[in-house]
Amino acid sequence: MSALHRTGSTPAVPAPPASGASQEEIRRQNLGALLRHVHVHGPTSRAELTARLGLNRSTIGALAADLAAAGLVTEGAPVTTRRGRPSLVVTPRSNRVYAQALSIEPDKLRAARIGLGGRVLDLRDTPRPAGTSAVDAVDTLTALAHEMDRDVAADSIRVGIAVAVTDTTRDRDGRVRIGGPDEKLRSAIGAAFGDGRTGPTVLAGDLADIAALAEHVRGVAADVDDLIYLHGSSGVSAGIIIEGRLVVGHGGRSGKVGHMVVNPDGLPCECGSRGCWQTEIGEAALLRHAGRDPGTPDGVCEVLRAAADGEPAATAAVERVADWLGFGVANLVNVVNPDAVVFGGSLREVYLAGADVVRQRLDELALPASREHVQLLPAALGPDAALIGAAELAFAHLLADPLHIGTAA
Ligand SMILES: [Zn+2]
Repeated sequence: MSALHRTGSTPAVPAPPASGASQEEIRRQNLGALLRHVHVHGPTSRAELTARLGLNRSTIGALAADLAAAGLVTEGAPVTTRRGRPSLVVTPRSNRVYAQALSIEPDKLRAARIGLGGRVLDLRDTPRPAGTSAVDAVDTLTALAHEMDRDVAADSIRVGIAVAVTDTTRDRDGRVRIGGPDEKLRSAIGAAFGDGRTGPTVLAGDLADIAALAEHVRGVAADVDDLIYLHGSSGVSAGIIIEGRLVVGHGGRSGKVGHMVVNPDGLPCECGSRGCWQTEIGEAALLRHAGRDPGTPDGVCEVLRAAADGEPAATAAVERVADWLGFGVANLVNVVNPDAVVFGGSLREVYLAGADVVRQRLDELALPASREHVQLLPAALGPDAALIGAAELAFAHLLADPLHIGTAA
């Protein structure tokens, strides 16, 4: 089974029950749809929920009362509807019901408590020492989480734990190694956060997949069900969502678009191949083309600033990387035919600086049927996307079966 469960958005309107579905199953689906609606869209009146979910008033009232009794939502402060009737507002209990989100990034370790409704309740981070593996990061992440636990109310419910893991790490000599989430990491986190024997269930996924999920649920692609999210850091990865669901592949390892070979005469890549896409559009490529040392801290920002100021070497570097970016995006658009391509991490800034060049390449190389409708979008959630997406992963079980977790906690 894949480490990253398929957790694309559930439609706001419940699917018609399959013939033979039990009353209990229909009720569970409706509870999930109502809770998901307020989780994604925030406080909503019963009248609005009735309209949005296509259920009658008394059903919505009963579902909301069940969720309130389970401690997952509150009902209060009625608003007056257009027909002049008062209607209770259903609000997710963000302070009480939360997910533990973790991220293991190339240079940083981050932990957050994120409440139902997507509210960041607390967030801590610390630099990631060079040469450490993802499993080495578990003790530090546990310590960050325990610091946060001191502020957690006794009746809080932690619905799950999820970790976003970047697919590349840097060793002590500065070389990049390719890895990703695996069973060993999930077990180590489960043991650290649990009672020392079995531990709670931990979900894990590639950082680009999880950031894609975040942009799909709460970010720039909230209304888009077919999208490619491209994440740039020391490497380049993609999260691909088709018909509202993440495509994760065997072992959760799909989306390694940074290793598409685009230039067979190009530079060697750390994966052992040559001319991979990330050797042309990765952070190191931008710095190299601009004549900077690839190890320069904050070098990408400096090159982009210099390009904005008109420095010729920096401007040429941005144009060259944007050109290769458009080249690869055109191929991906032909394969996946998405409605949007979202640029995140360092690729967000590269895209914004070279948007015309990217679009020009796309128009030149992609098939008209695939390119004409596709939107190119900068990511909206910034560096918190991985944590927000990890929380969505952790909330998925609750949203699928709200009362099971609500009453069990
Ligand atoms: Zn490669």
